[in-house]
Amino acid sequence: MKNVKYAKCVKCGKIYEATPNLTNCECGGILDIVYDYDYIKANLTKEKLAARPHDMWRYRELLPIEETTEPTPLRVGWSPLYEEPRLAEKLGLKQLWVKDDGQNPTASLKDRASAMAVAKAREAGAKVIACSSTGNAASSLAGNAAAAGLKTYIFVPSRAPKGKVAQLMTFGATVISVQGSYEDTFELSKKAIEKWGWYNRNAAINPYLSEGKKTVSLEIAEQLQWKMPDYLAISVGDGCTIAGTWKGLKDLYAIGFIDKLPRLISCQAEGCCPLNRAIAENKDWHPMEENTLADSIAVGVPRNADKALMAIRESNGIVVNVSDAEIMAAQKLLGMTCGVFGEPAGVTGTAGVKKLCEQGVLGKNDTVVSVVTGNGLKDVANAIKACGEPITIPSDMDLLLKAFADKGIVVE
Ligand SMILES: *Cc1c(COP(=O)(O)O)cnc(C)c1O
Ligand SMILES: [Zn+2]
Repeated sequence: MKNVKYAKCVKCGKIYEATPNLTNCECGGILDIVYDYDYIKANLTKEKLAARPHDMWRYRELLPIEETTEPTPLRVGWSPLYEEPRLAEKLGLKQLWVKDDGQNPTASLKDRASAMAVAKAREAGAKVIACSSTGNAASSLAGNAAAAGLKTYIFVPSRAPKGKVAQLMTFGATVISVQGSYEDTFELSKKAIEKWGWYNRNAAINPYLSEGKKTVSLEIAEQLQWKMPDYLAISVGDGCTIAGTWKGLKDLYAIGFIDKLPRLISCQAEGCCPLNRAIAENKDWHPMEENTLADSIAVGVPRNADKALMAIRESNGIVVNVSDAEIMAAQKLLGMTCGVFGEPAGVTGTAGVKKLCEQGVLGKNDTVVSVVTGNGLKDVANAIKACGEPITIPSDMDLLLKAFADKGIVVE
């Protein structure tokens, strides 16, 4: 890879050759891919980019793949970035955009990392990929691997919503539903991966995954014609997504494509916010219980704490925790005002933005991008609980009129 120099441990600084099988540093630290920005500058222009297909591989000079590596089969990335003036007005913001990453092929941002895992597994000559996941990494890996003809072994906690498990089974993964927490699930997957030598798509362990995730911020920048907002809000579990988002922004800054870095807004659930707590108290992180209905970010032991905390601090970021009720209210608000349906963890970023507006931290001078990280159809049970019942009547016009009258609905 001419665009990549090496991988470097974020803890001890040890340097590794960027081979496709990289995992953690021998010290246990997480590796970061270091690029040759001079090479990239000389080989990538905005004009060149503009002519390319609309998927994540359009940024290949900024991605850790061989020049000869084929794009993966499913179309991942280039999700829409909607400007939302009505929601901005409601919240009291100058400008707000919503990036709907639930529109990826398996309906979450995780497709960006899983497509990268498939590309690297192919480079490594692997035939089998494995991971543990709260659900979305699992279903996205299963889908992207199925399309590429690779086998998958997937470990999920037994609490994973049915929508995600249905995807897994349909994509033909061998699924192990672990009776325990995400932490327990992770530990079992780790042992199995060691035993059988499968290609490892575990969050944080594989340093290429957050490089895939960073394409979300590369796209946001390009979709905004390289004019960056003041803030970028995103939900946080293991921390790979927010770390990747920051990496993408720094890459673009380093090659001169953008001249301003937004501040990150790290949004977690009140019932599980080890990373935000560490920032708020300016201390190390400590495990927490996984006490939220936002299952994708119910991560008590974040796997990518180092990179995530660094990203939030470097960006002079803001942290905000929201209750499950606030998450479900944001889901409804996004649905009603934007027509965007996010799963609970998917809308936690927007819930955080709303809360910061109410607290007066954000206001009429601020421009914000809020990333919706997963589609609402992943977890219909919680949505139905939060939304209430529809009008249920027999096929009878009189009963319809009566129901409207009872509910005070005035037909326009
Ligand atoms: C995984 C996930 C997140 C959080 O990403 P991390 O890398 O775990 O911090 C947020 N939202 C959704 C829908 C996810 O699947
Ligand atoms: Zn190290």
